[in-house]
Amino acid sequence: MVEQQKVKMPSSSPDVLIIGGGLAGLSAAVELTSRGISILLLEQKQHLGGRTYSFVHPETGDEVDNGQHLMMGCYHSTLNYLETIGRSSLVEIQSNLSIIFRDPKKRPSLFQTVSLPAPFNVLVGLLRLENISFAHRLALLRVGMELILKNPDTNKHLQSITVAEWLDELKQPEENKKYLWDIIAIGALNDSTDRISAALFVKVLKSAFFGSRLNSSMVIPKKGLSTVLVDGAVEYIQQRGGIILTNTSVKRIPDITTQITSVELESGDVITPKAVISAVPYFDIPRLFENPGTIGLTGMDQFISSPIVTIHVWFDAHFMQEQFVALINSPIHWVFNKSKIYGREDEGLMYLAMVVSGAHNLVEKEKDELITMAHHELKRFYPSASIAKVIHSLVIKEKRATFSPKVGLEQFRPQHKTPVQNLFLAGDWTDTKLPATIEGAVQSGYECAETADKFIKSKR
Ligand SMILES: Cc1cc2nc3c(=O)[nH]c(=O)nc-3n(C[C@H](O)[C@H](O)[C@H](O)COP(=O)(O)OP(=O)(O)OC[C@H]3O[C@@H](n4cnc5c(N)ncnc54)[C@H](O)[C@@H]3O)c2cc1C
Repeated sequence: MVEQQKVKMPSSSPDVLIIGGGLAGLSAAVELTSRGISILLLEQKQHLGGRTYSFVHPETGDEVDNGQHLMMGCYHSTLNYLETIGRSSLVEIQSNLSIIFRDPKKRPSLFQTVSLPAPFNVLVGLLRLENISFAHRLALLRVGMELILKNPDTNKHLQSITVAEWLDELKQPEENKKYLWDIIAIGALNDSTDRISAALFVKVLKSAFFGSRLNSSMVIPKKGLSTVLVDGAVEYIQQRGGIILTNTSVKRIPDITTQITSVELESGDVITPKAVISAVPYFDIPRLFENPGTIGLTGMDQFISSPIVTIHVWFDAHFMQEQFVALINSPIHWVFNKSKIYGREDEGLMYLAMVVSGAHNLVEKEKDELITMAHHELKRFYPSASIAKVIHSLVIKEKRATFSPKVGLEQFRPQHKTPVQNLFLAGDWTDTKLPATIEGAVQSGYECAETADKFIKSKR
C-alpha cells in the first residue's frame, strides 16, 4: 500500500469537488482527470477506499481486507477501471465460473460452467450439479426460462416479490434452494432470500449468466483491496494533477435550490467549485445535506443496512486445499484460503478469511465466541482442522456493509442528476440497477464524471 502524500489545500478552487474517497469517488476522479478536468477529492477518514480497504496484519505481514470482496466478469466498469489504473494483473479471472459447495454429509460438489456460448455454458453446469438429484436439477431449468423471458426492469410482478417467493413460484425444491439459490442470493445481495427483491436477483443472474461467457467468471483479488483498487487510482489521479486530501471532512451543506456556490469544510476552509459530486454512502447523506428533500432525496429512511462479518484466522497447519468454498448448512457462508490466493500456500501459517453475509444474528457477538464458532465449523467440514491450532485471529464487523435490497427500494434510489444543476450523486446506493457492489460504485462514479464533464464544458 502506498503512503498517502502530505498534500495541502489548493489555493484555487477545482472544476469538480468530489466528496468521498470510496470507489465511487475514486472512479469519478480517475475519469475526470483523464478528461483534463481539475478535481479535488476529499475523504473524511485517514484511508481511501471507503468500504473496500486493506491493511497489513502486524504479526504476519499479510494484507487483511476489511471483508473479502469478489468481483465477476460482468463487472465491466470495474475491469475497465482496473485497466486504466494499471492494476488488472492483480486480479485472477476464472476461465469458467467454478464454485465448490461443501456439505459435511456429502462429497464436495462443483458448480462449473463449460466452454460453450452463454447461457448454455451455465445450463450445462447446472445440469451437472452432483449434490442435487437429477429430477431437481431439471427444475433449475425453470429458473433459466424465467431469466430468458422476464425483464426485471419492467416486470412489475418481479419487482413486488422477494426471492423466496419467486423461487416458490418457480417450484424450486428445498434441495435446490439449499444447495444453490440461497448461497448465491445471500452472497450477491447480502441478505436472506425472504427480504431481498426478486427483480434485483434476476438482474444479477441475467448480467452474470447472459452475454459474454466470461460474465459469470469470478474475479479474485490476488492482493489486498487497497493495493488492487485504491493505490493505482491515487497515482493515476495525482499524476494528472488531481488533488486528494484525506482526514478532511465536508461540513453539512445548507439548503440549496438551484446551484451550489460554495462548500465549507470542518476545518473552516471554503471551496468554490464549478460542480460537486457527492460520493458518500446513503447513511452519511443526512449528515451531509441539511435537507435531502431539496436535492430530490425523499426516501432516505427506506435504506436499511445489512452487515457482513469476516472472521480472519491464521492456523498452524494447512488443512484446506481449495482457493475458496461455499459452505452448506453453516452460519459461515464462504471460506477463502488467503494463503493460497496470495500464492504462499506452502509457507508458514494458513490464513483463512470466513465470511458471514447478512450477519444480523452474529454482528453483536463477542470476538472469542465468533472465533470458536468458526473453528468448530471448520472441523465439521475439514476433519483435519481438529489438530490445527489458532495462532492469530481478527474479527471485522462491517455493520453497514451494504443496503439491504428489499422489495420496493428501487424506486427510492436516486438518479445521478439532481434538481441542483451542478450537484451529482454517485455511490453504490444510487440508481445503478445493481445491488450494493464495487461495480455499482464504479459505474456510478463514471456516469457522474461524464455528466459533470458535460456540465463544466457547457459553462465554458
Ligand atoms: C465486508 C464487505 C464485503 C463486501 N463484499 C463485496 C463483494 O464481494 N463484491 C462487491 O462487489 N461488493 C462488495 N461489498 C460492497 C462494496 O464494498 C461497496 O458497494 C462499495 O465499496 C461502495 O463504494 P462507495 O464508493 O459507493 O461507498 P463507500 O465505500 O462507503 O465510500 C464513501 C466514502 O465517503 C466518505 N465520506 C462520507 N461522508 C463524508 C464527508 N462529509 N466528507 C468527506 N468524506 C465523506 C466515507 O468516509 C467513505 O470513505 C462489500 C462490502 C463490505 C463492507
